[in-house]
Amino acid sequence: MIYPILEINLNKIHHNTRVLVEQCRKQGVEITAVTKSFCGNPEIAQVIANAGVTALADSRIQNIKKMLHIPLPKLLLRIPMLSEIDELIEYVDISINSEVETIKKISEAACKKGKMHRILLIIDLGDLREGFMEEQIISAVGEIIDLEGIHLEGLAVNFGCYGGIIPEKHSLEKLISIKNEIEALYPIDLHILSGGNSNSLHLIWENKLPKGINQLRLGQSIIFGKEDVYNKTIEGLYADAFKLFVEIVEIKDKPSVPIGKRGIDAFGKLPTFEERGIRKRAIVAIGRQDIMLNGIVPKEIGVTVIGASSDHLILDITEATRQLKIGDVLELEMNYGALLTAMTSEYVYKKIISQSI
Ligand SMILES: *Cc1c(COP(=O)(O)O)cnc(C)c1O
Repeated sequence: MIYPILEINLNKIHHNTRVLVEQCRKQGVEITAVTKSFCGNPEIAQVIANAGVTALADSRIQNIKKMLHIPLPKLLLRIPMLSEIDELIEYVDISINSEVETIKKISEAACKKGKMHRILLIIDLGDLREGFMEEQIISAVGEIIDLEGIHLEGLAVNFGCYGGIIPEKHSLEKLISIKNEIEALYPIDLHILSGGNSNSLHLIWENKLPKGINQLRLGQSIIFGKEDVYNKTIEGLYADAFKLFVEIVEIKDKPSVPIGKRGIDAFGKLPTFEERGIRKRAIVAIGRQDIMLNGIVPKEIGVTVIGASSDHLILDITEATRQLKIGDVLELEMNYGALLTAMTSEYVYKKIISQSI
């Protein structure tokens, strides 16, 4: 086996999904599982499907195409590009939309193919990434309500992705009041109210999720056992379903401050260094081309990250308690961003295990 290896424990992912499905079901909420962090890997998606989620969602149609054999509806999370509408109609059951122009094009394309495409409208309640502003939503519904080939099934909202806004009870009540307003004006049944991502879970735990919100789109909490509001491992879930292992290729004692005239590094930054004398350092074979490095922490006691370039990660091992040598394998703890990049890198081998837990 050649490193770096990303080891993925399917049993832990199944367990995490199962617990969240139960917690949400008690409050009338179904889970749409978000598969983008693992690039729609079909083995992982299957395990999540087996644990009782009701749909699979991804931001990329390439990923959705890997999961077509799994008999659950597929939701496209990212607003569709005009250039992908034919693929959208072909492979995706339901999409999140915020542009009337795009919805009209979807309608045309669906009619041409004799298909029906389901849509949710996304409303921006303050996080300021995607979505109709509140005052635009009524007229937008008016413009699309009579279009053929599409079926408007509900509303969605997203928090915590750009503005770092935490979803609160009153913001989700707003979503419900917008739904009621639309249903009072137009003869439609908006039967899906999708109340956000993993950051909305705290409302479930605190019993504050307004009645009527019936879907959450969960990614990070399922695969990582975490969300960002409390930024802690969720009680009863595994935070280590994904583990990254890397191999040491050099160990040397070196000064802590580089020697010679200094310019910018390979990534356009002027690095600064603290004088700490001669330190014992190890290089492990992974780099910025594989992984977002500000999201990783070595698990090995006494080992810290001191820098990295595209293919080398430099660690300070002066205080390591273990006697490290060339060829030794270290585990790196990842945050969500680091996992995303490791999963996407073709240079990181994926090893799927089903070890009992
Ligand atoms: C990524 C994404 C999610 C999932 O977010 P998590 O924090 O991983 O639960 C949900 N909805 C949308 C629109 C997304 O882009």
